[in-house]
Amino acid sequence: MLDLTYEAPKPKTIAGATGDWELVIGMEIHAQIASEAKLFSGASTRFGAEPNSNVALVDAAMPGMLPVINEFCIEQAVRTGLGLRAQINLVSAFDRKNYFYPDLPQGYQISQLYHPLVGEGEVLVDMGAGIARLVRIERIHVEQDAGKSIHDMDPNMSFVDLNRTGVALMEIVSRPDIRGPEEAAAYVGKLRQILRYLGTCDGNMQNGNLRADVNVSVCRPGDYERYQDSQDFAHLGTRCEIKNMNSMRFIQAAIEYEARRQIAILEDGGKVVQETRLFDPDKGETRSMRSKEEAHDYRYFPCPDLLPLEIEQGWVDDIAARLPELPDAKKARFMGDFGLSDYDASVLTADVANAAFFEAVAAQAGDGKLAANWVINELFGRLKKDGREIGDSPVSAGQLAGIIRLIRAGDISGKIAKDVFDIVYSEGGDPAQIVEARGLKQVTDTGAIEAAVDEVIAANPAQVEKARANPKLAGWFVGQVMKATGGKANPKAVNEIVTAKLGL
Ligand code: ADP
Ligand code: MG
Repeated sequence: MLDLTYEAPKPKTIAGATGDWELVIGMEIHAQIASEAKLFSGASTRFGAEPNSNVALVDAAMPGMLPVINEFCIEQAVRTGLGLRAQINLVSAFDRKNYFYPDLPQGYQISQLYHPLVGEGEVLVDMGAGIARLVRIERIHVEQDAGKSIHDMDPNMSFVDLNRTGVALMEIVSRPDIRGPEEAAAYVGKLRQILRYLGTCDGNMQNGNLRADVNVSVCRPGDYERYQDSQDFAHLGTRCEIKNMNSMRFIQAAIEYEARRQIAILEDGGKVVQETRLFDPDKGETRSMRSKEEAHDYRYFPCPDLLPLEIEQGWVDDIAARLPELPDAKKARFMGDFGLSDYDASVLTADVANAAFFEAVAAQAGDGKLAANWVINELFGRLKKDGREIGDSPVSAGQLAGIIRLIRAGDISGKIAKDVFDIVYSEGGDPAQIVEARGLKQVTDTGAIEAAVDEVIAANPAQVEKARANPKLAGWFVGQVMKATGGKANPKAVNEIVTAKLGL
């Protein structure tokens, strides 16, 4: 477990006409498993391929075709479960969820209703420095994705693209432990971060590889605690489910809107009807898609084409032994080993590639704190401005470490280091050689500094009077000397000599 102390955040409260209301949110997240082949066929999962080009006979539900489980996909789901500290079920089974839709040629989706592969787990959601919240995971089941119907390409026709049909998904179901829009976004963010660390889902929300169904209800203060104590859902309000959200911003806007809509109904003496709703980003509102009465009867039954899935504890243990270091552990280690603040450690571990880059810089520079400052403030700032990822950073970890080593050796000041960074960023090159060739080396020769200080003192008698009366003004002299030496003088030496010469 983590060696950090956390403070529980407060739930979001909305003041109504009849008193305060609180939000309760549970999420079902569909994460596409990062696999080159589909769940039950060898067809490719490549995004952006020519429509209907990645379709095996079984995906097209040709008569007599049988599904074959892709072991790699199951392994990724197990890794995900282990990453979420969840129970792995050694026996699970696939069920048919029956419904008709043109993008589902089988007439059913193969899913896991009764015996999911992964059981209860947990996610620690960061809500700012030192504040976190535990969101419990109820289950993760493995299922196939449906195809895509396209209604907006032609006024008279709809099209169907089966490339996505049969692609492996993990449905990650949370308990209703999320208490506000920001927390909901933070939960999706944390889950996405863990999946990306594990490499089991690329987390690309724009391509629909990670999408969320968001269940929202409202209750009175105290009701949620009653639910927590008893696990009795009767203490919670009736929920509505907002389907298929693939943007953090929209998730927050939809929750906010939906909570206010439900509060208005309840305060008006009405009842919230359990239903599925869609968020309209243009209007910023949710609208009804289908009510519970109209809900599909999926007639779930065990899929007769697939035997129950049995895995061995030894296999699970092997996978567990090979899990990478996950975000919480990495963050705690960065804080402990390098003395970084919670905030800096969070920024550096947000993305696994960024974290690896930082570690390489810290190791080669021999100073984690300085490395963190340079990576976050200079490098990330610059990359962000240029719309680049760490993978195409023009400055390598070795080059950045080289700059930091020059600072640590007293060869260059922090200010000159920024100039060197700019040069390396735009022109490349070895920092030490650049400093040498361009004469940027810091002047530590006290004789030269003393001469410069003498000159500034001689030229500014009035300032000297003032500084003697108010020693804080000595900084002005330091600034003048730095200017006169083109920023190359060692600021510490300048400071000492100015103080001495002014007799402060
Ligand atoms: P279903 O399978 O019918 O969608 P579940 O009981 O599996 O229903 O719940 C689906 C999701 O709804 C879960 O993420 C759960 O946490 C959430 N949920 C259940 N009750 C509530 C509630 N009262 N308010 C908010 N979310 C809820
Ligand atoms: Mg549901």
